[in-house]
Amino acid sequence: MPDGARRNPDWEWDELVLACDLVMRNGGHWLPAENPQVIELSELLQRMTLHPREVRRADFRNPNGVGRKTADIATALPGYAGRPTNGGRRDKEVIAKFLAEPDVMHSVADSIRKSVAEGEPTDLPREVGYDNESEMEGRYLLRWHAYRERSPVLRRKKINSVLAQHGSLACETCGFDFGQTYGERGRGFIECHHVDSLRAGGEGPRTIRDLALLCSNCHRMIHTKLPWPSPAQLRDIIHAQDESQRS
Ligand SMILES: [Zn+2]
Ligand SMILES: [Zn+2]
Repeated sequence: MPDGARRNPDWEWDELVLACDLVMRNGGHWLPAENPQVIELSELLQRMTLHPREVRRADFRNPNGVGRKTADIATALPGYAGRPTNGGRRDKEVIAKFLAEPDVMHSVADSIRKSVAEGEPTDLPREVGYDNESEMEGRYLLRWHAYRERSPVLRRKKINSVLAQHGSLACETCGFDFGQTYGERGRGFIECHHVDSLRAGGEGPRTIRDLALLCSNCHRMIHTKLPWPSPAQLRDIIHAQDESQRS
């Protein structure tokens, strides 16, 4: 298909986080295409594999496009006096997150940058397998995260050590035991979650202490929304919910 016939893919959540991070660090102002940081971001976005080559036009995320996106963001910020350029719904969601939790969002942006800088392993999953994945926050981080926590050697070690200690595999957060509920079919089933991944950036899990064993529900609840709570924080959420339902 000739380039003129189609548009570049819409900006993903992770891409917008990087652009918004740049605008915020620039005092809420947009940046021109020739700005070195815009050029750097343009290169980084082209290296990310969120959008397969087949759907990219030749001008995919070039410095002009990135500069325009910083203008969309800057003119959508509260306090901007002129008319906003046309940013999408997702732009506004990311901006709202930056305004509400700037520190969290800057560290999310750092994590994304670090994972791209590390270079992508060839077996990085394209999709992680969540139903609403294309709408999820931090899809790129999620793919990295899934890659890390699927390390089969560390996973086996973790499971064996928990089995040796407790004789069974239960979710560290809610206590759900697949073997107990599903019998033979569920025995030995559990998901592995890499605990420190958001903060640790490019580092993969190194010891079994970096892994938590979780049931599928708890694991998914952690990744539904950024920032990802730790298993202990999720346990607190479950307890608080329990309390509020009793009263
Ligand atoms: Zn659980
Ligand atoms: Zn996880």
